[in-house]
Amino acid sequence: MQGSDVVIIGAGAAGLMCALQAAGRGRQVLLLDHANKAGKKILMSGGGRCNFTNMYTEPANFLSQNPHFCKSALARYTQWDFIELVSKHAVPYHEKKLGQLFCDNKASDILEMLLTECDQAGVKLHLNTAVTQIDKTEAGYQLQTGIGALSCTSLVIATGGLSIPTLGATGFGYQVAKQFGHSVLPTRAGLVPFTITDQLKALCTELSGTSVDCLVSCNDESFRENILFTHRGLSGPAILQISSYWLPGQAVSINLLPDHDVPTWLAEQQAERPNSELKTLLGELFTKKMANLLAEHWFVSKPMKQYTPAELAQIAEQLANWQLVPAGTEGYRTAEVTLGGVDTKEVSSKTMESLKSPGLYFVGEVLDVTGHLGGFNFQWAWASAYAAAQYV
Ligand SMILES: Cc1cc2nc3c(=O)[nH]c(=O)nc-3n(C[C@H](O)[C@H](O)[C@H](O)COP(=O)(O)OP(=O)(O)OC[C@H]3O[C@@H](n4cnc5c(N)ncnc54)[C@H](O)[C@@H]3O)c2cc1C
Repeated sequence: MQGSDVVIIGAGAAGLMCALQAAGRGRQVLLLDHANKAGKKILMSGGGRCNFTNMYTEPANFLSQNPHFCKSALARYTQWDFIELVSKHAVPYHEKKLGQLFCDNKASDILEMLLTECDQAGVKLHLNTAVTQIDKTEAGYQLQTGIGALSCTSLVIATGGLSIPTLGATGFGYQVAKQFGHSVLPTRAGLVPFTITDQLKALCTELSGTSVDCLVSCNDESFRENILFTHRGLSGPAILQISSYWLPGQAVSINLLPDHDVPTWLAEQQAERPNSELKTLLGELFTKKMANLLAEHWFVSKPMKQYTPAELAQIAEQLANWQLVPAGTEGYRTAEVTLGGVDTKEVSSKTMESLKSPGLYFVGEVLDVTGHLGGFNFQWAWASAYAAAQYV
């Protein structure tokens, strides 16, 4: 049987970071992944440019049943620490917007950087390696794997969440958690486009490809960003963000004109341009095509002077507080993240070690910590992995 200090299951963002940091401390590290390639999500991320962190990362950017859990790890390995690593490897990057840092060239720059660090620190990486059984021993853990039986003192679960199964995602981490007595909070797709009911299909299809700056709200959270109409429904950063807060059956409020006090604007237009049609005025705020479609689907477009105050109030409400009840989401097939997961109440926020089974650690997305869109999920992967790596 092959023995090592640390076995890490999952060579994604968190597994790679944990491996390089632990090996950097002189620990013998075996990093296993069932996929044929490490870090597939890193390669896919940020539209191929990897939004690897966010300059404004803070605990408020994360969802969890236990909102304090992420604080300690985020404080001990910050966005600036990761930026230092990126700079050490001379990976060119830029801020796209809102503190989001992306590679100038390609996401593989980040993966290569992590693999180089792992290699230099002596991490042994085994791809195409499934783990079929895990048992607790007196000295730690014993694993049955595709490369034979392994033993270790520390076992790190870095198998991520359920989103995008074609990139290697499995529920393995949740099974291991349950095997060792952990609670797993219900999971659901996050940062995911909405699908819509038949009633809205025509509007979304006709507007497919149109992007609008909106304020989108649900369950006391709001995001000001673009929404994107698609053939399947609604996407774009504001929709992805709010999807993490939305629960089936709920309405999402969309303000299509967040820079306007819409009732006042409509009253002014009625006074100043009584003979102009509503769709003409809306055409000055949206694209002409969108204005025409909104007028057609939602209103009776006529000269402004012909609207009663009650009708204007209704139009204002529709534009500034569009109550959209999504049919659902596109699910794990396209979700960027998985909400829920291993309950953090049973994990040390300092070390990421299980409070149920000593020597067992959970890092990254498998835990019930989910970031907003914008580089926060990778920052959680780096920070939680670093925290565990100091103790494994
Ligand atoms: C399309 C897309 C784009 C994204 N873009 C960004 C972005 O730009 N910025 C950002 O911050 N976040 C982004 N994310 C989210 C981010 O990729 C994840 O939050 C992050 O990768 C989580 O890291 P992790 O190491 O916990 O899990 P993962 O990176 O998912 O790694 C888990 C690893 O475990 C392996 N594994 C799973 N099951 C097993 C098993 N049974 N046995 C062995 N190995 C197993 C997988 O093959 C995988 O290599 C994106 C996600 C997606 C899907």
